[in-house]
Amino acid sequence: MPAQDALDFGAERPELSVVIPVFNEADNIDGLVARVIPILENCVRSFEIVFVDDGSSDGTMEALRRVNVADRRLHAVSFSRNFGKEIAIAAGLDHARGEAVIIMDADLQHPPEVIPTFVDYWRQGYKNVFGQRTDREQDSPLRRLLSQRFYYLFGQFGETPLPPGAGDFRLLDRQAVEALCSMGERARFSKGLYAWIGFKSIGVPFEVAERAHGTSKFSYRKLTRFALDGLMSFSTVPLKVWTYVGTMISAFAILMAVYFLLKTAIYGVDLPGFASLIVSVMFFGGIQLLSLGVLGEYIGRIFAEVKRRPLYLVAERIGDHGAETADPPMPSRHRQRV
Ligand code: UDP
Ligand code: MG
Repeated sequence: MPAQDALDFGAERPELSVVIPVFNEADNIDGLVARVIPILENCVRSFEIVFVDDGSSDGTMEALRRVNVADRRLHAVSFSRNFGKEIAIAAGLDHARGEAVIIMDADLQHPPEVIPTFVDYWRQGYKNVFGQRTDREQDSPLRRLLSQRFYYLFGQFGETPLPPGAGDFRLLDRQAVEALCSMGERARFSKGLYAWIGFKSIGVPFEVAERAHGTSKFSYRKLTRFALDGLMSFSTVPLKVWTYVGTMISAFAILMAVYFLLKTAIYGVDLPGFASLIVSVMFFGGIQLLSLGVLGEYIGRIFAEVKRRPLYLVAERIGDHGAETADPPMPSRHRQRV
């Protein structure tokens, strides 16, 4: 069967693809395109920009249509709803045809001026060239504190070390892109996946700029979900820790039992202790629910994985990706392996 694969474009492969997830970024698109294109024209033979519209409800799609009419090297795929940035990146990688792929945000917080340095390293043979933020000035103090805690926990318990300050702003060689595309997981923690695939890697420091227009699309709720996805897809420590907690509590209970037995044998029966009884019942009830909750988090993720729903649904394509096939190309991760 001929593969109708989004990646099968052999001859017409551009040297570089730039993948940009966009969610309600109508005001940023023109400025971004105007700044990125001259830089790309100066540093590579040929390029394409793949926008992934993550279910925007503002004028993002109109802006994307407009830029596509002006420049055919710019295409877009649009999701049927908001699937989240991680999944938008996965879709961008599925659709990117370049020999190398750069991932960047739409809000100009990732300075495009760093792109030529990424490309230089790629030409020297690096396959995973990642931007390393040198500061977090642009984040609120609470977000800074929470991310610091998260990275500390990840460093302690995660199975893959993350390079400090590395995020989604990076260049990936085709080989690394194929590796990422072959990972079918739904709970995607890209930062972990980039580190997990390995390949010859190098960091390029950059300063995070101020957001050009609008506000961050990440609420604390979304960030918490993201942090839990990250920890749970790269660590089983939260599952195993309950074995130790349970063992310690049981040992303590046995000691208490011996203590009360001896006390009763020596001093006779004595009834007070209602308060301590209630407190311990509540405490252990709490511990049990907490451990069940952690199990539930993992089981929920297992449930999401075994359903094998497609990672995303494309509602519309703008540009030549739309013209290629009547049916949407089926990325490799969606094909059932038999
Ligand atoms: N984004 C997305 N889907 C979402 C949230 C964000 O595609 O559900 C995109 C957003 O349009 C931007 C990038 O991801 O291009 C980074 O988002 P944002 O700037 O809001 O995040 P922050 O810089 O605060 O981490
Ligand atoms: Mg941003």
